[in-house]
Amino acid sequence: MTAAFPTALPRPVLALHGGAGTIRRDRMSAAMEAAYRAALTAILADGARQLARGDAAMDVAVEAVRRLEECELFNAGKGAVYTADERHELDASVMDGRDRAAGAVAGVTRVRNPVLAARAVMDHSGHVLLIGPAAETFAFDQGLERVAPTWFGTPQRLAQLRQARALAQGQVLDHDGQSAMAADAQAAAPEPGGPIDDRTKFGTVGAVVRDAAGHLAAATSTGGMTNKRPGRVGDSPIPGAGCYADDRSVAVSCTGTGEAFIRAAAAHEVGALMRIGGLPLAEACARVVFDELPQVGGDGGLIAVDGLGNVWLGFNTEGMYRGWVEAGGEPLVGIYRDE
Ligand code: ASP
Repeated sequence: MTAAFPTALPRPVLALHGGAGTIRRDRMSAAMEAAYRAALTAILADGARQLARGDAAMDVAVEAVRRLEECELFNAGKGAVYTADERHELDASVMDGRDRAAGAVAGVTRVRNPVLAARAVMDHSGHVLLIGPAAETFAFDQGLERVAPTWFGTPQRLAQLRQARALAQGQVLDHDGQSAMAADAQAAAPEPGGPIDDRTKFGTVGAVVRDAAGHLAAATSTGGMTNKRPGRVGDSPIPGAGCYADDRSVAVSCTGTGEAFIRAAAAHEVGALMRIGGLPLAEACARVVFDELPQVGGDGGLIAVDGLGNVWLGFNTEGMYRGWVEAGGEPLVGIYRDE
């Protein structure tokens, strides 16, 4: 289900991702795989109910990402990866296709749900992107929940940071080491050539929605990259890079090597190829994921939905946690490349 094609259009639809990377069956326990599938399925099922009762695209996208932030399997909110100095710096963004309103936060450390802060920035600040302590102060003034900076951490993520350091890697991304460590007790012993590979480890969560009224929205949230330099910001909170929505073309949420996605303006590039270039959704997405991003070293993937409710979920890595559902339908979930 790398790409999904319609049977009846237009339709309300929700697509999700929980990050891309090397996600190997042989390093993933059956229990862990089931946990990922169950988490994605539950969030999609609730999103389908929201869509069926006519909720707005932005509300559905934000709620899906909030739920992914609350699930510590994913690198966003609770369960976020560690910075080089053993802290968490979280980034998130939202974008509304109706008017291209956008909101984002970067480098927040105490806001429980960064995606809610991003939405508050869009709705109430008059700005698009707020960073660091000032973003947190704004979020708390808006009534959002405060947590201790240590709240986001998990033993697995700390082990991931230490493993990255032991392998003398620089900034690395999330999922294949995570799945390996979660797989079983052998996790501490990395096998030759993997599992931690800075070209193939990604986290981040995201949602794209086309609602019953035909409007589009996107939301993206991340802990960034394991062992990242304090202050480093990737594509996730940058509208046009890791998140984009425009009713004239597409809603997009990305996951991958953030620096490359910024340089490729990846999410906006999909929209431009559709709106200006006249490409259909699947061709525009494939061009960005399999051609544009690799030219600048970009590994990862994206999810996208157009104004008719066509969805595309694709990646140039081994796998991507992903799924989609239409209003009133059954969720479809995938992890590996061959499903
Ligand atoms: N794109 C995110 C970042 O660079 C990382 C990820 O998707 O895992 O911060």
